[in-house]
Amino acid sequence: MGVTAEEVQQLVDGLLAEGRELDATAFLGLQFDRGLARVDLPPGHGGLDADPARQEVVDSALQAAGRRYSWTRNPMGIGMCGPTIAVWGTEEQKVRYLRPIYTAEELWCQLFSEPGAGSDVAGLATRAVRDGDHWVVNGQKVWTSLAHLSSWGLLLARTDPDAPKHRGLTAFIVDMRSPGVEVRPLRQMSGASAFNEVYFTDAHVPDAARVGPVGEGWRVAHTTLMNERVSIGGAVAPRGSGPIGAAVAAWRASTSRRPAHRESLLRLWVEAEVLRLGNLRAQALREKGTPGPEGSVLKLGSALLMQRITDLTVDLQGPAGMLVAGYDGVGESSDDPGLALLGAQSSTIAGGTSEIMRTSLGERVLGLPREPGLDPATPWSQIPRS
Ligand SMILES: Cc1cc2nc3c(=O)[nH]c(=O)nc-3n(C[C@H](O)[C@H](O)[C@H](O)COP(=O)(O)OP(=O)(O)OC[C@H]3O[C@@H](n4cnc5c(N)ncnc54)[C@H](O)[C@@H]3O)c2cc1C
Repeated sequence: MGVTAEEVQQLVDGLLAEGRELDATAFLGLQFDRGLARVDLPPGHGGLDADPARQEVVDSALQAAGRRYSWTRNPMGIGMCGPTIAVWGTEEQKVRYLRPIYTAEELWCQLFSEPGAGSDVAGLATRAVRDGDHWVVNGQKVWTSLAHLSSWGLLLARTDPDAPKHRGLTAFIVDMRSPGVEVRPLRQMSGASAFNEVYFTDAHVPDAARVGPVGEGWRVAHTTLMNERVSIGGAVAPRGSGPIGAAVAAWRASTSRRPAHRESLLRLWVEAEVLRLGNLRAQALREKGTPGPEGSVLKLGSALLMQRITDLTVDLQGPAGMLVAGYDGVGESSDDPGLALLGAQSSTIAGGTSEIMRTSLGERVLGLPREPGLDPATPWSQIPRS
């Protein structure tokens, strides 16, 4: 943690000079080798073992030089699976997987949710049974973003059905192209297919691909899910940009300019700014190493706000707002207001639903009594399931 901001700045200056002629992938590789992919990771594995706050020095210098490449090139890999492997992986796993994650040469997906286990992901039913030096996996995952493009997946599976639900889980790295792994894309209302069903039928996973100890999968998943919240709220956009910026632009372009619309727009702009400042505050707390329940509160607020902003933006289009570009997957563009409105509906579900966020808010901020639940010692095999 002893690396100073000046030392990080020097390393970035060196990276920019040495990487001047490199394309994006090669530049990202050099950034990883210089310990600047994510500065809090260990040296040799993309980091400098530095205070996470030093990442800001890297990001702003690369941004200013036009060489900052978004983590959305490999969202599950960079946002969640990479940081999980950095914490729980073996030395061999770190060497094999981290660099191509950060260069985005190998995409990753997160194989947690199942048809019967989303909010209650610890109740999942996909089984992994040990057979010598490998595991045999059977079951089904769903809503697996980018599984159809991924080389690797981080799988959470049940290895001991007789243990309480949180204690019988184990995490594995799965080769998404191996026999017994079948990916079936799901078609969304926008016309796109960004997530999938994934079926496992006697898929073989080597024990060397296990992440963390047998039975400790819940703790591994916790690392993944904490990083998911951070990556969802992590990048704080400049004031007035993003969806609220699109709403302001739509109002300016609108010919009717009704006072009711202007009032709604002003109200939403203020709410967006309050959330942005809240996110900045949460980011500062995280960088000091004290993440709190504000992640859930901000996630709840921004998901609901996103739906209201995109709704108004479509309204401001007048009759043209009823047409959604790319509904059939043609000419799809994320700046299309109709697509943004359709996409915003997932924001109150993905990364934890609004109801689950409200429970977290009630219990952890307001101090309300905890939700009644099953005895945490009940074996998973004795919990009723549909
Ligand atoms: C765009 C998108 C991308 C996703 N990507 C991935 C991915 O890559 N990998 C992955 O593993 N998963 C992914 N998911 C799945 C996501 O994590 C789940 O959809 C989410 O956790 C909710 O689970 P569920 O859909 O099974 O709903 P359920 O948990 O069945 O919930 C159904 C309804 O019941 C409510 N509910 C459930 N439990 C409670 C409770 N205790 N108290 C009050 N209300 C409750 C919920 O709020 C919801 O309204 C993605 C989802 C979306 C929308």
